[in-house]
Amino acid sequence: MIEDLVQSQRDFFASQQTKIVTYRKQYLKRLRKELVANEDAICDALYIDFKKPKFEVLATETQMVLSELKYIIDHLEFWSKPVKVGATWTNFPSSDWIYSEPYGNVLVIAPWNYPFLLTMSPLIGALAAGNTVVLKPSELTPETSKVIAKIIEKVFPKEYVSVVEGGIPVSQELLTKKWNYIFFTGSSRVGKIVYKSAAEHLTPVTLELSGKNPCIVDATASITLAAKRIVWGKFLNAGQTCIAPDYILVEKTVKDRLVEALKLNIRKFYGDPIEESNDFARITTDSHYNKLKGLLEGENILFGGTCKDAERFIEPTLVDEPGFKNDLMKDEIFGPILPIISYDSEEDIHKYVTQHENPLALYVFSTNKKFQKRIIDKYGFGGGVINDTVMQITNKRLPFGGVGQSGIGGYHGKHSFDLFSHKKAIIRKPNWIDIPIRYAPYNIPIKWVKKIKHLF
Ligand code: NAD
Repeated sequence: MIEDLVQSQRDFFASQQTKIVTYRKQYLKRLRKELVANEDAICDALYIDFKKPKFEVLATETQMVLSELKYIIDHLEFWSKPVKVGATWTNFPSSDWIYSEPYGNVLVIAPWNYPFLLTMSPLIGALAAGNTVVLKPSELTPETSKVIAKIIEKVFPKEYVSVVEGGIPVSQELLTKKWNYIFFTGSSRVGKIVYKSAAEHLTPVTLELSGKNPCIVDATASITLAAKRIVWGKFLNAGQTCIAPDYILVEKTVKDRLVEALKLNIRKFYGDPIEESNDFARITTDSHYNKLKGLLEGENILFGGTCKDAERFIEPTLVDEPGFKNDLMKDEIFGPILPIISYDSEEDIHKYVTQHENPLALYVFSTNKKFQKRIIDKYGFGGGVINDTVMQITNKRLPFGGVGQSGIGGYHGKHSFDLFSHKKAIIRKPNWIDIPIRYAPYNIPIKWVKKIKHLF
């Protein structure tokens, strides 16, 4: 069945339909209409899946997708045109162009933490560039997966866009097929599996992976504002955000003030008891819940720590100074647990930040411009913000993606269009003149040939 679907998408792509820009736009508009009509159903599905608050679904999933759709629909015609670049003397006379051509059949595999956004956002980019798409949403958010399947089925013919629901075996079967592009969002562990499968067919990939994101607060920072912005970015989606701050490195002299401000803001945001708040989500799966709960054992807890198994509830929790080799500091936490580590010097910061390869995000809270610059320049990471958290994802003009262990490739807005397009180089030459110097027999003096570099 999967083989038939893939073949039907290959045939459809070969029919050249998706090369017509107005055809793509028409479907993107239909998709937008259907998403608007189903916004409540999407919110309900995410609530059933992990009690995600409606505000958060709108702000971090549906409205971001709608905004991306509008931006892409508005610019698509312009982006799709061949771009003229400067010509060289070697081709005189010529006009030189970059054509954006779709790769063909794209596979998108999505995770559970932003299950709607991270399925739809790559879809929009792939369609804008003129590809066909098979979507594999996460099986761990089944209600959202169902709504996505229903919407896609209503808007698109199967040979253009199709949803294949299911878990790891389905994903594995999809990966045995030949694709022209694979876009994967998920863990670095599974990212390596995807990369290996893609290599079998020399298929290009984008891998949106994970990382352990440092959040550095120095003594010059506005502590009140830093605390508010860290609490928001960390506990949004119950900490299950790939670009959430993973741990805080705070200059020792301001640590106590920061901890008090963090506690104050957690209470302000979520009240008391937090499990009764409508604004705080749950952990999505039992296995992830148990892993997070286990991480709290034996830790020095400054705030929170309450866990309720029946609901997979973990209170926003601040952990004091977990050791360098502690389990909390090994892998990405991906939950509402925030280690707070104090530092004396930039060497201390260096020791922690370089313990893990290339985080997906890094945040610096400081008013010292030289310090900000040193940190941004010194470390390799996907993207970040100075004096805030998470907001780098909100500007469509900025590429979103990791580097090294945290991923390959960046997308959003025009970056998505470019990511899903092969850039084809074309030189157009007339026939009225043919400068003969390149042809054999080579009678040009060698000292002249050595000047050719000036003609390229
Ligand atoms: P995951 O890697 O377990 O699963 C992602 C997808 O891969 C799912 O659709 C799943 O069905 C499939 N899959 C799982 N195991 C597979 C296997 N062995 N073979 C083939 N396919 C397989 O990730 P997750 O747990 O769903 O999501 C959480 C992770 O995703 C976190 O590590 C988080 O940091 C990362 N993430 C990254 C970004 C980003 O933009 N960089 C965004 C969100 C989440």
